[in-house]
Amino acid sequence: MTGLSVADGHVVSFHYTLRDDDGDVIDSSAGDEPMDYLHGHGGIVPGLESAMAGKQAGDKFKVTVAPKDGYGEPVGPGPRPVPRDAFPDDVELEEGMQFFMPTKSGDPVPVWVAGFQGKDVLLDTNHPMAGETLHFEVEVTGVRAATADEIEHGHPHGPDGHGHGHDH
Ligand code: ZN
Repeated sequence: MTGLSVADGHVVSFHYTLRDDDGDVIDSSAGDEPMDYLHGHGGIVPGLESAMAGKQAGDKFKVTVAPKDGYGEPVGPGPRPVPRDAFPDDVELEEGMQFFMPTKSGDPVPVWVAGFQGKDVLLDTNHPMAGETLHFEVEVTGVRAATADEIEHGHPHGPDGHGHGHDH
């Protein structure tokens, strides 16, 4: 039996190394568990997701993803200061951390810690990698059909069916 190819409704596991234009490694799954996502549900950046289509376990490839197919171009006024007091004491704030801010319209928006300034935390609505061209080196380690639950949720579940720690 030949392996499944990556297509909508399949859970894909892969190892990756992400480099910037200078060739510096920004992120990598090496030495860690492979990353997994449910194909066709936007679980990874669009440019990488489309490059995954049709691949099989064991396939290795490189893809360069433009900002518009990655984390987008930076928009808005840039980072703005929020008092450190606005965050829970027990949270260790680090540059690059992501939070979800409530909005008047109801949908929380993602924000990232862009840095620190005195007693303030600088928050940016742009992803830290916004505007960057992404250079991915990928090895597909597994492709399997998603379960009905996973399709309904739009993301893969752990091996035990509920290893991903969100409310169902
Ligand atoms: Zn779920």
